[in-house]
Amino acid sequence: MTGPGAAGGREAAGGREGATGPGIRRWHAELAWLGRGDVRSRVLIEASGGVFRAVTPDVPAEVVPPGTERRPGLTLPGLANAHSHAFHRALRGITEAGQGTFWTWRERMYQVAGRLSPDSYLALARAVYAEMALAGVTCVGEFHYLHHGPGGSPYPDPNEMGRALIQAAAEAGVRITLLDTCYLTGGLAPDGTPEPLSPVQQRFSDGDAGRWADRLAALGPDEHGMLAPHARAGVAIHSVRAVPPGQMHPVVEWSHRLGAPLHAHLSEQPAENDACLAAYGTTPARVLDGAGALGPRSTMVHATHLTHHDIELLGGSRTCVCLCPTTEAFLADGIGPAGSLAAAGSPLTVGSDSHAVIDLLDEARRVELGERLASGRRGRFGAVALAEAATVAGHTCLGWPEAGEIVPGAVADLVTVRLDTPRLAGATPATALESVIFAGTAADVTDVVTGGRDVVRNGQHLLVPDVPAALTSALRPLLA
Ligand SMILES: [Zn+2]
Repeated sequence: MTGPGAAGGREAAGGREGATGPGIRRWHAELAWLGRGDVRSRVLIEASGGVFRAVTPDVPAEVVPPGTERRPGLTLPGLANAHSHAFHRALRGITEAGQGTFWTWRERMYQVAGRLSPDSYLALARAVYAEMALAGVTCVGEFHYLHHGPGGSPYPDPNEMGRALIQAAAEAGVRITLLDTCYLTGGLAPDGTPEPLSPVQQRFSDGDAGRWADRLAALGPDEHGMLAPHARAGVAIHSVRAVPPGQMHPVVEWSHRLGAPLHAHLSEQPAENDACLAAYGTTPARVLDGAGALGPRSTMVHATHLTHHDIELLGGSRTCVCLCPTTEAFLADGIGPAGSLAAAGSPLTVGSDSHAVIDLLDEARRVELGERLASGRRGRFGAVALAEAATVAGHTCLGWPEAGEIVPGAVADLVTVRLDTPRLAGATPATALESVIFAGTAADVTDVVTGGRDVVRNGQHLLVPDVPAALTSALRPLLA
C-alpha cells in the first residue's frame, strides 16, 4: 500500500512553493492509481510549477480546499506512446482493403512519405498528436526519419521536418522525444547485399553517419539533450537493414554524449533476420550489441523474432523493449516473446507505431493477450505491470524518468478515465485498474493534464478544437 503523501521519494524539481502558495492546482480523484502502488480512493493531488507537490489518499470531499477540481472515475499518470511515426496515420483503413504483407504495406507508406512537406507534416502531426492527447498520451517518442525534401535535397534548414514535429507537439499539448533517426541504405537483399536507396528513401538519408551527426548538432540540443521545454532529443538507428554496422558508432556516441535515449527497430520480420544473417553472419540483436547500441538507455522496438540468446542479450543488458502489438498484428509481424524478455530483465513499454489505432490501453492489454494466445496460459502480466509499461516505463525509455507516476516531485501529468461509460460501467474500486486496462479504450479518457496544464477537458481538446476536422483536412491532400 502507498501511504498518504508518501508515494515515492523523488526530489521535487524546480522551485518549491508552499502548499498554499501561488499557482497551486488541486484535484480530488475519486480513485487514483499512484504509479507502481495500489488504487486509492479520495486522493487529493496538489501541483505547482508543473510538478506534483503532495498526494494524499483518503481525504473526504467535505474537507478539500476551495477551488479543488473533482475527478470522477480512475485517474492515472500520463500515458507514454514510446514509438510513433506520425505520418503513418494516413494509412489507417486504406491499407486494410485487400491482402498483402509488411512489404506491400511499406510501399503504400512510401507513397505518403513522398508527398509530405514541412507545412503538411506540421498540420498532420499536430492533428495526430492531438488524437493522442485525447487518448491520454502526454509524451510521444517520434521515430523520425523523413528528414529531407524530394530527391534527398536538404531543406534550407536541414532540420525543418524535425522542427515541424516539435512545433506540432507543442501545439497539441504533448511532450516529445524526437528520436532523430539515422537511415542510410535501402535495405538488405535476401543474400545480404546492401540495396540502393529508392527515390523516396533518399528523403530519409543524410548520406553517412557523420553527416547525420552534423545535422543533429545543428538541431541544437543543449548539454542535457533538451530542444525546448517540452522537447528532448533522442537518437535512433533505423534498423540493421538501413544502417551498416560500421556506421552505427556516431549514433551510439551521440547517445552517450547527451545521455539521450537510443532506439532501433529490431527483428520485426523473419526476412530481416535472414538478410542480416546473410550479410553479417549473425542476428540483428548481436549486430547492435557489437556496435555498443544495447544498454539501459536503449530501446529495441518490436523484438518479435528473437533467438534465446538475443533475449538473454537484451535482458542482461537491461535494454528496454517497446512492443507495438496493434501494429504487429495489423502487419502480420507475429507475437513477440514479451514474457521471456521481461523475465530476462528488459523493461517493457508500448507504442502505437503505425497508428492503425491510437489507444495505449489497447496496446497494453495486448501484451498480455498475445502472451495468452501464444502460451495457452493466463496472467503473465497483471494490470499493474501493463499500466507501468504504458506510463513510467514508457516515459523513462523516452528520457523523461521524472514523469509517469503520481508522486510528489514527478511531472504533473494526469489522465482520468470515466467508469460510467458503456464499456466500464459496473467497475468496482477494488478492480478499477483491471477494468480500465483490460476493457477501457481511448474513448473513455475524459480529462488530460500535461505538466500541470489542462489539455483535454470533458473529452474536448483545448488547443485543437476539432480534432477530427484537423485530421481530415491534413489527410485529404495526402491521399488524393
Ligand atoms: Zn516503427
